Order: sequence, then C-alpha cells, then structure tokens
Amino acid sequence: MTAAPAKVGQELTPAMVAYLVVLGLAGVGVMIGTYLGDWGFWGWFGGGFLVVAGFGALLGNVFKIGWQPAVGPCPRCGTSLHYLTKKQHLRCPSCETLLEVQGQSLAAVPQNAVADTAEYPAPYVASITFPPTCALCGQPPAQAETVRWDKHRKKADYVVATVIEVTKIVLQVPVCAAHVGQGAVALDYGDHPSTQHDGVCVKFRSVWALEGYRRHNAAVMPPIRNEPQMPHAPSA
Ligand SMILES: [Zn+2]
Ligand SMILES: [Zn+2]
Repeated sequence: MTAAPAKVGQELTPAMVAYLVVLGLAGVGVMIGTYLGDWGFWGWFGGGFLVVAGFGALLGNVFKIGWQPAVGPCPRCGTSLHYLTKKQHLRCPSCETLLEVQGQSLAAVPQNAVADTAEYPAPYVASITFPPTCALCGQPPAQAETVRWDKHRKKADYVVATVIEVTKIVLQVPVCAAHVGQGAVALDYGDHPSTQHDGVCVKFRSVWALEGYRRHNAAVMPPIRNEPQMPHAPSA
C-alpha cells in the first residue's frame, strides 16, 4: 500500500505564533516584575509557567518534541487518522483495526497481543456484559471476578462550590482458574480517541478478549470516531 506518510505537528498560523510569543513575553514580564517588585514564589511560578506555555509550545512545534497532533494513514486500509505522538491506542473508523502509536506513526496491534497490564481499551456503557469465556485466554471460566470502580472526579470549580462527579461501577468478569487475580480487565477513563468516546472505558490485557467483548456488545458500542486531537489541529 502506498499511503502518504504521517504528517506530524500542527501548522501554526501567524496569529497562533503571535499568541504564543505574547504568552511567552507576558511570562518574561511577570518574572521581571517579580524580580523588581519582590512578588515572591508565585510570581516566579506564574511567570515561568507562561514562558514555558508560550515559548515551549513554539519550540515543541518547531522541533517536534512533546506530544504533537499528527495525521497519518491507517496501516491496514489507508484512511487518514488523527492522533497524538504519545503512547496511545485508537481504532480506525473504516476498518475497525486496533492501532497503536509507534514513534510518530500508526501500527496495527497484533490480534494475539497480550500485555502485562490491562491497556487495550473499549468503551464502557452501562448495559455491557462479558462473553462467557475467560477475559484473558478464552478458556471456559471458573468464576466471575469483581472489578470495582469508585471514582471521584472534580468536574468544575466555582467560587462557592466544587462539582464532583462520582462514578461507581461494578463488573463481574469471567476468568478461568489460572487467571483469577491476574488483572485481565480494568476500568479507566477513556482517552479519546483511544476508546472513541469520552467516558469510562474497559481495558483488557488480551486483544483477543477485547475484540470478543466488542462483538458481544456490538448492539450497544458507540460508533467509532476519529477527530483532531487539539483545537486548531490540521484538518486532514
Ligand atoms: Zn483502517
Ligand atoms: Zn484464562
């Protein structure tokens, strides 16, 4: 397949460059003010933060360091996909292949891959169930393992009140005798587009078990999406 190579980094418009320069210069200004006015630690901290945010983003974009938004072809079908150049999984909306970011381009995850920890994600929705096989190896299950999640996430901070989102999930995960307590499945926040949705995801150690879970819950799986990874990221 002759697909175009990955295009890494976003094209900065003159306005964005100007904005980042102003941000960095504001940071320098705050640091000078801190020095002259003896504003103390928070002055240095705030100034330093602005300098890093402004000039750091510029340098990162020029030298392609840090997480860069990228656009590259699906290695299976060639569809142009958005991703970040960091360790991340995503799924091609066209051929539904599970992909991972390797270096700066995309590679298909082998169907027989088994990771040391649960890292291959699929969306969690309230009505999901597990297929009646071990969620790690596919053998007949010996028991159901309880995976609990009780997460408090700060959603918004107002002056008088903080909104905390509480998510409680209990999964009954079938496992064979050999895989009890082996962390076959874990719950985590979705890392869009790793999971193609913004909510909670179910992570598997085994890609085979992950795909079985998706087939088993095909009726309730949200559609696969692939979108730019940052505001103003290049549109394919
Ligand atoms: Zn594809
Ligand atoms: Zn097993």
